[in-house]
Amino acid sequence: MSGTSERTRLIRAGKAPERLSRTVGPPIQKGSTVLLPNAAALYDERQATYGRAGLAAQATLMEALAELEGAAAVRLFPSGLAAMTGAMLAVLKAGDEVLVTDAVYKPTRRFCDRVLSRFGIAVRYYPPRTAAGALLAMSTPATRLIVLESPGSLSFELQDVSAIAALARQRGVRTLIDNTWAAGLLFKPLAHGVDLSVQALTKYVGGHSDLFMGSAAAREPALVKALDQAIMDFGWSVAAEDAYQMLRGLRTLPTRLERCGAASLAVGAWLREQPEVAEVLHPALPGAPDHALWKRDFCGPAGLFGVVLKPCPDLAVQAFLDSLTLFGLGFSWGGFESLALNCDPQFDVRRFATGFEGPVLRFNIGLEDPADLIADLAQALGALRSAAARG
Ligand SMILES: *Cc1c(COP(=O)(O)O)cnc(C)c1O
Repeated sequence: MSGTSERTRLIRAGKAPERLSRTVGPPIQKGSTVLLPNAAALYDERQATYGRAGLAAQATLMEALAELEGAAAVRLFPSGLAAMTGAMLAVLKAGDEVLVTDAVYKPTRRFCDRVLSRFGIAVRYYPPRTAAGALLAMSTPATRLIVLESPGSLSFELQDVSAIAALARQRGVRTLIDNTWAAGLLFKPLAHGVDLSVQALTKYVGGHSDLFMGSAAAREPALVKALDQAIMDFGWSVAAEDAYQMLRGLRTLPTRLERCGAASLAVGAWLREQPEVAEVLHPALPGAPDHALWKRDFCGPAGLFGVVLKPCPDLAVQAFLDSLTLFGLGFSWGGFESLALNCDPQFDVRRFATGFEGPVLRFNIGLEDPADLIADLAQALGALRSAAARG
């Protein structure tokens, strides 16, 4: 580099990719430009020629997630919601119709109602427990996709996923599931015949309430290609640091989920015995709604469940939530810290009545000692009783 000016030397100096050591995790490569070895490689589509599709950390994460999902390939999206909307856009076109469970995650519904309809895609909702035969009987020649979510967001209904997927396949209708509750671990949608398995990695895989990402998994090469094209056409991209952190979360996913799941069963079983509680909505809890289906399809419990209270004033529900000391009040879930919220304000968009006898609460059980969580819930139920008595 002698003979060049300092300006140029400072641009060229300090490039030593050969110094990469082999660490346990992947290298966090940051790059939009990918330097290619020669002119012919610039337009060789078999190799990475631009960083938007991801480099080492993203590729490593996709590979590990493909193992988790039993998929031919997994693709990454900037959020769980983007994975849902992206997978839908990958397979839908104007004139198509999509059947969506009424218990779908509310922002996914918003996308269906606001965006899909604007692009000439019809959306119809079905009650979450609709049997496979009745569901396919709703389909028309325009029906292209069935969207499932099992258990359903906030109301925790299970669907007979394999029956729906099998019948849909016979009729040439694609299936897509939001599998966030099971984290790709407790239920394996692709093995049950579903075409596209989506999850918000933000929840259990991230596991620390500090990352956004989503994934879509598929077995069929045509669907993997459709996902790749959608990602390329829309320009979605995921940062290397985030992919690295997500991979770190994935390493401890089974261990965390085992603890959260077991604790949620203990807390759920205790709650069910309380006089203020009408019903616990936790499919993994013996005697709870859809438990038989859960036992058939799932290999373990997750830590997120609902509780239907006996009818009580909204003020009493608020007193309960405000009295909790170990549970944070907030959206999202799957992290190490327990969370609670009331669900009723989110039910107003439902097309079909949920039919619950009283207010519904949702709990995310984290990694605290369940005995401490139960003590906290006990004192908060005391606050609920006092507030209800005051009227
Ligand atoms: C949180 C969540 C999403 C969306 O994930 P984000 O990463 O927050 O966009 C999708 N589906 C379900 C069931 C969720 O709980």
